[in-house]
Amino acid sequence: MLAEEGSGNGGYTVTDSNPTTGTGSSGNSNSSHLGPSSSRQSDTTSSMSPANGSRNQPSNANDGCVGPDSTNAGRASACAGCPNQNICSSGEFNSAEAQAEKMQEEADLRSGLQDVTHIVLVLSGKGGVGKSTIACQVALTLASRGYTVGMLDIDICGPSTPRMLGVVGQEVRKSGSGWTPVYVNENLSVMSVAFLLPDNDAAVIWRGPRKNGLIKQFLTETDWGNGEGIDYLIVDTPPGTSDEHISTVQYLRTIGGVSGSIVVSTPEEVSMADVRKELNFCKKTFVPVIGVVENMATFRAKLTDLTFVKNLNIDNDQEDVELVCTNEVIQLLREKCPEVLDLTIKADVFAPSNGGPRVMAEKFNVPFLGSLPLDPNLLKACEDGVCFVDHYPGSSAARPLNKIVDNLVKALPITENSTIEDIKEFKFAL
Ligand code: SF4
Repeated sequence: MLAEEGSGNGGYTVTDSNPTTGTGSSGNSNSSHLGPSSSRQSDTTSSMSPANGSRNQPSNANDGCVGPDSTNAGRASACAGCPNQNICSSGEFNSAEAQAEKMQEEADLRSGLQDVTHIVLVLSGKGGVGKSTIACQVALTLASRGYTVGMLDIDICGPSTPRMLGVVGQEVRKSGSGWTPVYVNENLSVMSVAFLLPDNDAAVIWRGPRKNGLIKQFLTETDWGNGEGIDYLIVDTPPGTSDEHISTVQYLRTIGGVSGSIVVSTPEEVSMADVRKELNFCKKTFVPVIGVVENMATFRAKLTDLTFVKNLNIDNDQEDVELVCTNEVIQLLREKCPEVLDLTIKADVFAPSNGGPRVMAEKFNVPFLGSLPLDPNLLKACEDGVCFVDHYPGSSAARPLNKIVDNLVKALPITENSTIEDIKEFKFAL
């Protein structure tokens, strides 16, 4: 069970009254996985160098930040006016203790993630756009294609992936090699704060440092793939660009960076305005954008999947009374015009603004991965925790979702020689 806010030393400790969960050192040392564990490590060497100036760069740093651990931190010309100038120039980040702590952190992260081939963040600027739906269904679809997949839910205050993957109420296990995540099936496992809570309705009311501590534990102590590693780690994030995003990106930058991000938006301006900030966050934190996904652009359903109702009391002040007449309507259509029964109905859910997410992606010079319609069967698959494309292969969102996963696999292929270099072309070209 998780400790109360403020009960740990500095808020970084997860206490454990349950023998199946808790803390421990990472023991994930297997290196036989297909993925480029060694590539990830060797690739990180240059990016870890203080000389490149980007490592551990705070998200509120000035452009041109030399890095708080640089010998020039706080004194470089780029530091003028930076909110961190005092602490950077104090040399605190360069003390022997800070350096030792940093090296230990890097070693733990490298050990915990060395057998993960690709790490993909799923981001959205705004809540309610279907980010977790897409993250979970991308993970289920990849697993259905035979890839080994991990799902990491870093939405500490609103974890929803256990429900969407059909594993609510299960517990993570503690073993000699770290936390064993919950297995959805043999090649898909999930880690979420929800598995550490005393009940499904428990609220997590934590400040930033406490959340960061748990995310670090997830990254360093989860035994992905039962010692054999995984092909894809899909990271479901909370909306916006909060502590969870910043700390995850900074931790991962320590060991070579995130492979890429999928950015989800609905087509209306209120969502896209926030997503543009998310894209700028990716640019500033050097997270390559694999692509933008448009969600819920239209409602699409087969005519035969609809429920027809007659509205009664429509002309008075009473609450409307509906009378379901689906059978009657379908029978009538079958007799009079059976050809329409094969049709799909379509309606705009949101008015697209300025060309919608596709045009926004063009303006940011990042790929557009695809557009998913609002499909009731997709929502049902998430409620039931099942793979949508397997259970509803003919449903309107199945082809677009498969295409999005095709594009993801094309961007981040799994081969014997996969390396993080493969994704260079997806980096921001702005
Ligand atoms: S003071 Fe300089 S080194 Fe420190 S965060 Fe700001 S820009 Fe970076």
